[in-house]
Amino acid sequence: MPEAIIQKPATPLPIVALTEDEQLFRDNIRQFAEEKVRPLSREMDEKGVFEHSLIDQFFQLGIMGIEIPEAYGGGGGTFFEAILAVEELSRADASAGVVVDVQNTLVNNALLRWSTEEQKKNYLPRQAADTVGAYALSEAGSGSDAFALTTRAELKGGEYVLNGRKLWITNGKEAGTFILFATLDPAAGYKGITAFIVEKDFPGFTVGKKEDKLGIRASSTCELILEDCKVPKENVLGEPGKGYKIAIETLNEGRIGIGAQMLGVAQGAWECAAKYAQERKQFGKAISEFQGIQFQLAQMATEIEAARCMVYNAARMKDAGMNFVKEAAMVKLFSSQVAERVTSLAIEIYGGYGFTKDYPVEKYWRDSKIGKIYEGTSNMQLATIAKLVIK
Ligand SMILES: Cc1cc2nc3c(=O)[nH]c(=O)nc-3n(C[C@H](O)[C@H](O)[C@H](O)COP(=O)(O)OP(=O)(O)OC[C@H]3O[C@@H](n4cnc5c(N)ncnc54)[C@H](O)[C@@H]3O)c2cc1C
Repeated sequence: MPEAIIQKPATPLPIVALTEDEQLFRDNIRQFAEEKVRPLSREMDEKGVFEHSLIDQFFQLGIMGIEIPEAYGGGGGTFFEAILAVEELSRADASAGVVVDVQNTLVNNALLRWSTEEQKKNYLPRQAADTVGAYALSEAGSGSDAFALTTRAELKGGEYVLNGRKLWITNGKEAGTFILFATLDPAAGYKGITAFIVEKDFPGFTVGKKEDKLGIRASSTCELILEDCKVPKENVLGEPGKGYKIAIETLNEGRIGIGAQMLGVAQGAWECAAKYAQERKQFGKAISEFQGIQFQLAQMATEIEAARCMVYNAARMKDAGMNFVKEAAMVKLFSSQVAERVTSLAIEIYGGYGFTKDYPVEKYWRDSKIGKIYEGTSNMQLATIAKLVIK
C-alpha cells in the first residue's frame, strides 16, 4: 500500500505517493469500511439488498459528493479522492464501492461538466446531501452498441415525453436522480441521442425488475420503465442531440472508477489469502512457508501493484486536465483481469474452505467478474486501445 507522503510536489513523484490530505482521506474511508461496511457485507450479499443506513452514512461522510464544489454543499475534492474512496470501499465490499462510484464518477461528473447554473443549483446540493444518482444508458437491445438505443423522447408543448425501457441500471432501487439517454430522432443515429435529468417522481417513470446476480449482489441493478414520462424541457443535460458526447466522456472517467473498484477487490482478496496462508498448517507448518504459496502471493501482489500504478496514474491525468482516454480503457481492461486472477488464486490458497461461503474469498471472486462487463466489456476496451495505439 502507498505510504509515502508528498512533501514538495516540485518534481515528478512516484505514482503511488499520496499527499498528507489524501492519506488522511484514505485512512478515514478505510476505517469506515472496516468498521461499518465489512460487517454487513456477507448479509447484504445473501439478501441481495444494500443496507440503506450505509447510504445515509456515505452522505454523512461526504463521499457522495466528493468533487461537488463546497458552494453547492459538496466536498470540493478531486477525482483522485473519489478513486481512493471507491478502492477502499471495494476492499471491504464491491457493492459499496459501486454505489459510490456511480454517484461520483458518472452522475456527479456529468452534472458538473454539462449542467446549466440552474441545474447545478437544483441538483448538486441534493447529490451531496441525500439523493443517490443512477446512469441509464443501456437497453435490452443496446449494450456494447449503446447508441442503438431506442428509448424515444418527443418534445410536446413545453416538455419532453419519454417512452421506452432501460436495463441493467445500477443504483436503480435507491436513486432519486437519473441521467437518462433517449433519442429525439432514431433516423439521426447517434446525433439524435440526448441526455435528460429524470427524477424518480416524474409522472410515467417507474423502476422495474431488479436482477438476481452472480456478484455485486447487494448493488441494485434494475430495469427502468418510461411510459409517457414527462420531463421538463429545462431538464435536458447539455444540448439536444449531443447526448452521445456526454455518454462517451462520462464513461471514460467512469472506467477509472471501475479500475479502482477492481483494485480494491483484488487487494481485499489478497489480504485474506496472505493472512490465511500464515494461519493454515499442513505438513506441520504454515502453508505460507511453502515456496509454492509464497510465489503465488508474490505474483498476486505484483499484479495488484501494477494495477494500482495504472489506476492512480489515469486518475492523476484526469485531475491534471490531460487526455486520459487510452489510459482509462487500459486501466479497466487490466484491473479487471488482475481482480479475476487474484481472487481466483485466493480461493485456491484457501483450498476447500475457499470454495465455501464460510470464508470471504468466493465472494471476492464473484464480485470481480463484473469488472470485465460493465461500462464497456473488455472487447470494447481493446477496441478503444487498438484505435489509439495502432496508427
Ligand atoms: C451488474 C450490471 C450493472 C450495470 N450497470 C449499468 C448502469 O448503471 N448503466 C448502464 O447504462 N448500463 C449498465 N450495465 C450494462 C452494461 O454496461 C452492459 O451489460 C455492457 O455494456 C455489455 O452490453 P451487453 O450486456 O448488451 O452485451 P453485448 O453488447 O451483447 O455483448 C456480448 C458480447 O459480445 C461482445 N461484443 C459486442 N460487440 C462487439 C464488437 N464490436 N467486437 C467484439 N466483441 C463484441 C462483448 O464484448 C460481449 O463479450 C450494467 C450491467 C450489469 C451486468
